[in-house]
Order: sequence, then structure tokens, then C-alpha cells
Amino acid sequence: MVAATHHIMRFDRRLLAVPTALLALAFANQTVAADPPELDPQLRQQAETLIAAALESELAYNLVESLTTEVGPRLAGSAAEARARDWATAKLTDLGFSHVRVEPFEIEGWERHAESAAITAPFPQALTVTALGNSVPTPAEGLTGTVARFDSLDALLASDDAPEALAGRIVFVDETMTRTQDGSGYGNAVRKRYQAATAGQARGAIAALIRSVGTSHHRFAHTGSMGYGDVGHSIPTAALAAPDADQLTRALQRGDVSVRLKLHTEILGPMPSGNVIAEIPGRTHPEEIVLLGAHLDSWDLAPGAIDDGAGVAIVTAAARLLLEHDLQPRRTVRIVLFGAEEVGLRGGRAYAAAHAATLPQHVAAAESDFGADIIWRLDTNLPPERTYWGEHLYTLLKPLGVGRGTNETTGGPDIGPLVPGGATPFALRQNGWDYFDYHHTPNDTLDKIDPVKLRQNVAAYVAFAWLMANID
Ligand SMILES: [Zn+2]
Repeated sequence: MVAATHHIMRFDRRLLAVPTALLALAFANQTVAADPPELDPQLRQQAETLIAAALESELAYNLVESLTTEVGPRLAGSAAEARARDWATAKLTDLGFSHVRVEPFEIEGWERHAESAAITAPFPQALTVTALGNSVPTPAEGLTGTVARFDSLDALLASDDAPEALAGRIVFVDETMTRTQDGSGYGNAVRKRYQAATAGQARGAIAALIRSVGTSHHRFAHTGSMGYGDVGHSIPTAALAAPDADQLTRALQRGDVSVRLKLHTEILGPMPSGNVIAEIPGRTHPEEIVLLGAHLDSWDLAPGAIDDGAGVAIVTAAARLLLEHDLQPRRTVRIVLFGAEEVGLRGGRAYAAAHAATLPQHVAAAESDFGADIIWRLDTNLPPERTYWGEHLYTLLKPLGVGRGTNETTGGPDIGPLVPGGATPFALRQNGWDYFDYHHTPNDTLDKIDPVKLRQNVAAYVAFAWLMANID
């Protein structure tokens, strides 16, 4: 009923000089009240204009070029992440957004200083390795132990769990990640990254190595967060580049292998982080929010072009198109550039806590955090009375090559924490076939971004933003 009233009111303004048409529409609207409303032709036309403009816009590429060049790597809690907040605040202000602000929060800091690994016997040689985020350091001279290899985390978990079972050994989980378009191989791979240390420690191991969570065979190791669970700080943990994991496995096929691991990492105290927020205030329903998210922090190994400089650029450029076209949405369009995503979704959780009271008014929330390849699928999670929002959005995205997915999305990493509080998640899913070739490695650099594909993303996000901010 409320939706129907808004529908008539909008036509009222537009068709003020044509009262008979207005009456006909009002009547038609009442008689078909059970059917979902049609997509308003004016809304569709505006969205199509914005999509066409997005496909010509260079703003997103210019933004990610600027962030990756002028800030570079921006580890959560670091001075570089603070510079990224300054960069974002200045850009969003210059681009004409309103209410540009930082919502600060604190995290437990962590830093990488140096890392190395080598087979010491029987075939001495260096291995390419990187510490996992949160890992404790080894002693300065390193740790040396014989390697106990497991094909998978589940094999390790199923192994003898006596506290002395792997005493003095370096546990090595050599589980391979499956390459998929939708990134579904990542969840299982992350289990390995988070739990290898605690599972090893419980069995007496002195350190943990994993095969990198990634799909490439280049000689870059992939970092990423690990966790100590309820155990508290645990054993030093690092990832091997895929070819080095293969090399170590071949050595193990010949008998016992000793490895020395040296990680110079540092667990710091509380460090500052924050979410950078900017808005286009809603014209008639400013309290209702359409949220466009991405994360500002990156790992320390690279300038974070695809993770997640691209997302920052895509959502900012999309919202900016509304300002360029002088289109003021009915609802508020809010950009949230989350801090400290990589180290445990801290920005998303901080936002969910700070905005708990208004999460049900987040009528649509989407985040771009899966690289810079094209969007290929739309997933939603709409209640039955609003599924037509998804169908209308799909009709706008279809010409961009986007298919209709499920109505079961739980959002992405930073939107996820908002959903239990009442925010409505959307997922504009990017092709992730190559994403985990570069993800969390020194190889996540600007040249991995195709400007043409980036513009397709901006087009999809501007269609999402404009439709959701105006639909009845
Ligand atoms: Zn990310």
C-alpha cells in the first residue's frame, strides 16, 4: 500500500499537466495491486543514460591508478592505511560528495619485517615463502624441524591428535585450491590458512607451512589472515608459493626433509583504523540507505590494485555519475570504504556496531571486493514482496552480460556483518577465474586491471545505485 502511494505520487509530479493520464494510472495501479509494479519508464531511461556514461568514463581507472601509486600498499592499522583514509577523504570531497567523514576504530596491529625458508637437508635450497597475517615470529635464528606433510587440512585434523604426535616437526598442509569462476574454492582454502597452525600446535608441531591459498603457479607466495582460535598465540605460520610446495613434496618423496623457517613479524598493540564514508543525501527518504562498499586497506606485499583498489574505484566512480548528471536520488546513496578488512572484516563489524539501529533502513547494500574482471551474475536476497527489485535490476544489467543468479546471497565480507542486523544484501558478482592468481601476492599491481572491464563494473554499480535509490 505504501509502495502504491509512492508510485502514484511520482507520476503526480511528472504528469501534473495531464490529469486524465494521472487518473488512468492511479486506477490501473489500484486494480493490479497484487502484481509487482512495472519499472517506471523514466527510471529506466535515467539508468540507461547512466550506464552509457559509465561505459565511457575513465574515472574508476584514474582513481585506482591514483590510490595504488600515491598510497601503495596499505596494511590495516599502519601509517599507510591512515594515508589511504586521507587520500579517500580528499578524493570524495573533491568529487562533490556530502558528509565525508571517517568513523575510527582500533585493531590489534601486526607487521611483517622479514621472512625466509630453506630446505636444510638433504637438498639445501631456498624456498619462496611469506608469513601469514597475525603469525607470531620465529626466534631470530629461525626454527628447524623435519616436515610432516598432509594432503589436506581434513587429513591433518583426522590424524593422531596426541599432544606429542608431531613434536618438534613442521607441519605442512599441501592442499590445492580449486579454480572456479565464482570463487567457491576459496572457502575451503581459507579453512586451511586459518587452522593449520592451531591443528599443528595441538599435536606439538613447532611451525606450520601451507601451500599458498591461490590458483597460480607463479613463484609468489600468497599471504592472508590466519587465526589462533581459542588457543591464543600459537606457532609461526607461513605460506609456500605453489612451485615451492611442489618442490618440497618431491623432496619428501625421497625421505625425511628438514626445513628452516625464519619469520620476523611483530604483534603490535592497538592501532588506528577507520571507515571512510561519503553520501549523496536522499531527496525524499534520506533515512533509507543504499550502500556501496569496498575496502580501503590491502595486504602489505603489493599496492592492492585488484584487492581492493578496484572496488574503491568502481563504487566511487559509480556514485559520482549521479552527481555528474545532477540526479538526486530519493534515498541516500552512501559510499563506505571499509578499513581493516583483510585482518578480520574489522571495518564491516565496526560499521555494523556503529549503525546497528539503522541497519534495517539499509534497503540495498552491495560491495565490490573480488577484483576487476566483469560482473557476470546478479545474486539477491529479497523478501517475496520485493523480489521485483531484483528482476528490474536484472533487466538493466542483462545488456551488460550479467545473468540472474540466486536469491540467497549473504553479501560479501564487509556487507555480511550488516545483514543479521537487517541490511538487504545484493551481490554483483565478478568473474573470479583469475582472481586468485594474484590475490594477496606481490603481483597484485595496476597492470592486472583492464580499464574496459572496470567500466562494465561501474555501469552495473550505477544501475544498482540509481534503481535502488529510487524504486518504489
Ligand atoms: Zn579484498
